[in-house]
Amino acid sequence: MPELPEVQNFANALNKNYAGLKIKEIKFHRENLRYPFEKKELSEIFALGNKFVGCYREGKQLVLETSQGSVNVSLGMSGSFKPIHSSKVKEKHQHVSLFFENGEAFAYVDPRRFGFWKVKKANDPVTLICDPLIQKDLEDLFLTEQVSSKNCSVKDLLMDQKLIGGIGNIYALEALYLAKISPLKLCSNVTIKEWKQLSNEIPKILLKAIELGGSSVATYLSLNGTKGSFQDLHQVYGRTGENCLKKGCKGVIQRIVQKGRSSWLCPFCQKE
Ligand SMILES: [Zn+2]
Repeated sequence: MPELPEVQNFANALNKNYAGLKIKEIKFHRENLRYPFEKKELSEIFALGNKFVGCYREGKQLVLETSQGSVNVSLGMSGSFKPIHSSKVKEKHQHVSLFFENGEAFAYVDPRRFGFWKVKKANDPVTLICDPLIQKDLEDLFLTEQVSSKNCSVKDLLMDQKLIGGIGNIYALEALYLAKISPLKLCSNVTIKEWKQLSNEIPKILLKAIELGGSSVATYLSLNGTKGSFQDLHQVYGRTGENCLKKGCKGVIQRIVQKGRSSWLCPFCQKE
């Protein structure tokens, strides 16, 4: 599933390659993804002659902006963008194609079809979610009574998209390892010092992952088809049975299941 660094990478790449170009046409190759396409409204936003202003990340979603409006795009479980060179559908699972007047084009590809394209309306309620790239915002959130009294695990908290935008399984587990906190630890048992440590580690790890093009686990490839390389730096994610990388630690990385999803941790370094 694309997490914040992968989504940010698509935003950067779409801006670099297409921002400022005039649109020729948008095509939908099916009726729906997670939701039905609002074809009429989307076709007006991406109509002939409109300018593709660019895009930015909002939590784990992208906002694509044209001179006539904005669209929220969620990549769901497996969404990605690819440059295309023909008006014929060639990519497997290619559901949307956007053509520019200068002959360039990109496709939205999504094998599992959990993503969506939705018109962003001016009166959409603004949800204030914490940006995990900003240490201060994280610390402010973690040190509220609302969070420190929660009865859920700290991993569940990090992945709560209503509170923090964009951290998924990989970066939650990696940040918890670096902060030496077990993913099973209850929020109510996390100390102030640990919350501060966690709010330091999360932006560092996400920025590093953005720099390295994200983590290519499962199917993720960047716009230009390259893999990210952050997975080579994973210290716990997917490392079942391997030695803990912390100097002097004799621990072996364990896989456990939390709410139906895998978690990895070093039982020596990360305390409950
Ligand atoms: Zn260890």
